[in-house]
Amino acid sequence: MFSYRHAFHAGNHADVLKHTCLIALMKYLTQKDTALTVIDTHAGAGLYRLDGDYTETSGEASEGIFKLLTAAKTAQTQPPKPAAAGKKADAAAPAPAASAYPWAPALQDYLDVLRKLNPHFAQTGDPAHLKIYPGSPFIEQQFLSGRDKLKLFELHPTDFKSLTGNIEQLGVGRQVAVAREDGFEGLKTFLPPPARRAMVLCDPSYEMKTDYLRVSACMADSVKRFATGTYAVWYPIIPRPEAHDLPRKLKTLAVKAGRSWLHATLTVKSSKLITDSEGEVIRPGLPASGMFIINPPHTLKADLNAALPQMVALLGQDRNAGFTLEHGG
Ligand code: SAM
Repeated sequence: MFSYRHAFHAGNHADVLKHTCLIALMKYLTQKDTALTVIDTHAGAGLYRLDGDYTETSGEASEGIFKLLTAAKTAQTQPPKPAAAGKKADAAAPAPAASAYPWAPALQDYLDVLRKLNPHFAQTGDPAHLKIYPGSPFIEQQFLSGRDKLKLFELHPTDFKSLTGNIEQLGVGRQVAVAREDGFEGLKTFLPPPARRAMVLCDPSYEMKTDYLRVSACMADSVKRFATGTYAVWYPIIPRPEAHDLPRKLKTLAVKAGRSWLHATLTVKSSKLITDSEGEVIRPGLPASGMFIINPPHTLKADLNAALPQMVALLGQDRNAGFTLEHGG
């Protein structure tokens, strides 16, 4: 346990999917006058340097946020033929030029969040000036108003320390609470929330196989405690039975509870092992991930229907790239 550090993965393609969804959720849910409680069960460090040792070592942002920006910037003027849901992308399709790129509104909102943290990038639009990447706590906090609350859980001692320091710098006092506790357990204490409006992000590292079971049990328990909350779960799509079972379990529990649901996946490449020129077998890295949302806002499907084809066109690495978008209830 605890070998996972999100700093290695910050800004990768999974973050692009997760954070675009999170922003769309936060934007919609903070429009109402009633207070919202946001609970982030696995918060991470809150902020990451894209030019820091971790991100530079893993280079995952180069297949995520940097690829998204540079592919849009260098691409030609013809918009790529968007992949239909469930279909593979046309990997050879060119994307339009960055300045004129017709970003889907949800991706525009995602880039706006990055611009707020990176004034130089906001001015120039140059991906080289994107130095700081926000984790989910900073994204969530940006959308809160005075009446809303944010509860963050993070178990890793170093990430907890960084998160506490990063949140302190915001100077938002008691609006944001950080706890070094198990997020699956801690969530229970906040459901139902005082004003009966809540958004939960459950984004474990899945370092341990048991995380998959804990997520489905935690969501079943949460929906029982507070049926009308919005619950967003991120999961990796990897060749492992637990990873395939998780969205199925979440769908069953939403249907049984009579709640609406939305399931989006983004695949950027094949999951097959590759062999390099010296015969060395190389793991391809995370090929795909998904977001499962219980009680999504009615606007989310349209938001993602426009954003996912662009993610595929800009982030797709081979002919396996594609997306799916299903909903029910
Ligand atoms: N949500 C973050 C974001 O989007 O920026 C990334 C979170 S990262 C995928 C998962 C985090 O959960 C890691 O920082 C890990 O240390 C932490 N963690 C692992 N098990 C935990 C648990 N049971 N409760 C709370 N945090 C945990």
